[in-house]
Amino acid sequence: MSDQVRQVVIIGSGPAGYTAAIYAARAGLRPLMIASSVDAGGELMNTTDVENFPGFPEGVQGPDLMDRFREQAEKFGTEILLDDVTEVDLAGDIKTVRTGGGQTFRALTVILSTGSAYRRLGLADEDRLSGHGVSWCATCDGFFFRNKTIAVVGGGDSAMEEATFLTRFAEKVYVVHRKDSLRASKIMQQRAFDNAKIEFVWNSAVAGIEGAEAVEQIRLSSTTGGEDRTLAVSGVFIAIGNDPRTGLVSEQLALTPEGTVQVDGRSSRTSIAGVFAAGDVIDPTYRQAITAAASGTVAALDVEHYLADLPTALLSEADAVDEKDSAPSAGSTETPAGQLVGTH
Ligand code: NDP
Repeated sequence: MSDQVRQVVIIGSGPAGYTAAIYAARAGLRPLMIASSVDAGGELMNTTDVENFPGFPEGVQGPDLMDRFREQAEKFGTEILLDDVTEVDLAGDIKTVRTGGGQTFRALTVILSTGSAYRRLGLADEDRLSGHGVSWCATCDGFFFRNKTIAVVGGGDSAMEEATFLTRFAEKVYVVHRKDSLRASKIMQQRAFDNAKIEFVWNSAVAGIEGAEAVEQIRLSSTTGGEDRTLAVSGVFIAIGNDPRTGLVSEQLALTPEGTVQVDGRSSRTSIAGVFAAGDVIDPTYRQAITAAASGTVAALDVEHYLADLPTALLSEADAVDEKDSAPSAGSTETPAGQLVGTH
């Protein structure tokens, strides 16, 4: 374990984490972001066109947007570590963060911006057939379904986006939804309604996903007392929302009834002093890239205020060792898990 006590460690690298990093770095807090070994960049890395992020009137690809977030965070001195946090100890003045790569970090503050994870249907064969026709990511797996018939489950923006994107490859895309109207925004709904390859299957819940080696069909049960039926499909894309990723902290931080990390009013302050949370992990409602980014700003400002109020002895401990443990040199980009990618 390094002796260094950092001023802030940011866990998670979506729009919330990066924006917190940009603000914290510009405030001279030299943040360390632990960005995940495989999911760095968060959910937008699996998204195609982002049309509603202000400042991009032509739209921007999700991964390109995240590259720009990262570039901006690094420009101001954020250290980014491609590793997964496996354990945190948030009690006390100095927090401890351990990674799968075997490193331990100590910090006066932690910003939790771990986002959310794809929700599962909870069916017996969902996991068995995952990667064999069952997917949560059209941009990752759509290519494998060229000229096939597939189903997308869900009625929100994600389902519309996935279904519309998948028509680039698939011959036909069923959208299976448990109600008779969609939750998705009007523009996304209309785009799907206008697409000749998409057929809606209303009032239907997926009761089973079947296939020996790969998906062959899904069983649908009617949610309105109608006939049950089967649909022959070779792929099922599940787009039924996300759940906040709180596994790391659920034993230590207070959660809301919706399962998000509880914060104090409009702030990012959690139930433990010095621990702040931002983005989808605190937001059961809006869950947009731009709202997550704004929430990252709030977290960085809250960290600044918190640090400003700490006793000088604690602060100088962080500062003193900071000088000694000078940051690694800038610029390496190719990074096995557990290495720093950017320190300037
Ligand atoms: P949502 O929570 O908005 O929608 C989830 C959908 O899945 C709902 O239609 C819901 O049904 C259905 N559902 C939930 N659980 C189940 C279940 N167990 N079985 C069957 N169906 C289920 O999630 P999204 O991921 O679509 O969107 C999340 C947020 O991200 C939203 O704010 C959305 O606007 C945003 N987003 C924006 C995009 C964009 O603007 N480009 C793209 C993608 C997402 P019901 O309606 O009955 O509750």
